[in-house]
Amino acid sequence: MQRSRRALIELVAFGTLALLACRGPEPKTGRSSVTTAPSSSVSGPTPRASTSAVATAASTSVPPSASLAPAASVAVMPLPRDDSALALAGARRAAYLRDLTTLVNMDSGTDDAEGLARVAAFAERRLRELGAEVEVRPAPPSAGKLVRATFRGTGTRKLLLLAHLDTVFGKGEAARRPFRIEGERAFGPGVADDKGGVVLVLHALALLRERAFRSYGVLSVIFDPDEEKGSSGSRDLIGTLAAEQDAVLSFEPPDGERVIVATNGIALLELAVKGRASHAGSAPEQGRNAALELAHQVVRLKDLGDVRKGTTVNFTRLRSGERLNIIPDQAAATADVRYSDPSELSRVEASARALVSEHLVPDTTVKVTVDARRPPFARNPASERLALLASRLYLGLGRPLEPVAMRYGTDAGFAYRPGHDTPAVLEGLGIVGQGLHTPEEWADLESVVPRIYLSLRLIELISAGDEISRTRAP
Ligand SMILES: [Zn+2]
Repeated sequence: MQRSRRALIELVAFGTLALLACRGPEPKTGRSSVTTAPSSSVSGPTPRASTSAVATAASTSVPPSASLAPAASVAVMPLPRDDSALALAGARRAAYLRDLTTLVNMDSGTDDAEGLARVAAFAERRLRELGAEVEVRPAPPSAGKLVRATFRGTGTRKLLLLAHLDTVFGKGEAARRPFRIEGERAFGPGVADDKGGVVLVLHALALLRERAFRSYGVLSVIFDPDEEKGSSGSRDLIGTLAAEQDAVLSFEPPDGERVIVATNGIALLELAVKGRASHAGSAPEQGRNAALELAHQVVRLKDLGDVRKGTTVNFTRLRSGERLNIIPDQAAATADVRYSDPSELSRVEASARALVSEHLVPDTTVKVTVDARRPPFARNPASERLALLASRLYLGLGRPLEPVAMRYGTDAGFAYRPGHDTPAVLEGLGIVGQGLHTPEEWADLESVVPRIYLSLRLIELISAGDEISRTRAP
């Protein structure tokens, strides 16, 4: 038992170890910084564990997701199939495809206020027809508006459904390659990420209505307009609302028959060096070479990652110098930081601050800034209980469902609260898809019906608050 648990933990560390970005650039937030005093020391770097294990690990190819399936000895018992729910989900397929066509054919890049307004208006109308109170509110600094819907039921449980309206594609993309179907694959900008998820939420809600199901306390929906750029205008509401929930279900696309129980946090570590300019030919000794000091610090900080904890720190951009004959007085470097343990970011920052206090070039200053963009959705028991419930529902359909840790960051990171039992967060409930953020993106239409069924039954069972669906520890 102990051993298999440790193996699982190691697997997560491996899975999140070298997980690389697949999200677009994100706005800067959460900065904190420190400037070290100039130092006249010219001593070399303090010896540290000077292996290049981190860099090596980060550049080693790893699977895009790590399986977190229970050991084979742990039997996952299927939940009996609800035939009436499955029949209703099946009957929704054609309508689902019609709505998906409509949404995919509307451009809604994160900076496209007009396109996002059209998509939001579509969602707003649908949600009102389904009986929700709907609010469409600005989400500054983002261009688009956020759609929030509230359904009030007869029970006590609170649930939040999350999906995003924006895509990574610019204006004109939908006209260039409109929605199309080949076999059981659908193509078009955002078809899986995340138009497929938005439409899935709408149809799961429609089925709840068809079944006259209102046993939840409050069922909320957020469709945000800026997930692809870090949710800077939505993250506060997602976090505040999530804190009141028993469960948060997020509808990003999984890459197969999977649900996501952990995602990485993303941050940037920035170094800014100030030196003194001087002519490189006639008076180099009067200069203080910022580029040289930066190179020194990059080498000192290269091992800040922690393989065991799945933390990576990789310098990806260095800048210095404008003229070939001038000793540069400015230099800057940025490292991409990925982490799955929420405490790791402060550890990385503190270590960086300590390390940059020792300089190679006298009279230079080195400023360390940490830009926290997206917190991790760390592995936790409540999410795993929810994943188990999802697996049991899927098994009832004769399909396996694998819980995985994914390499990217999503809104689940803003919903997850480290150290709290609630909400139980589950990610990856959207339509199955691959090739996200590329023109090859496709959605697996075979997953439409089982995924509508899964969302519907999850909402029903969590609302019922019975033993099967409890998200809190006993
Ligand atoms: Zn997405």
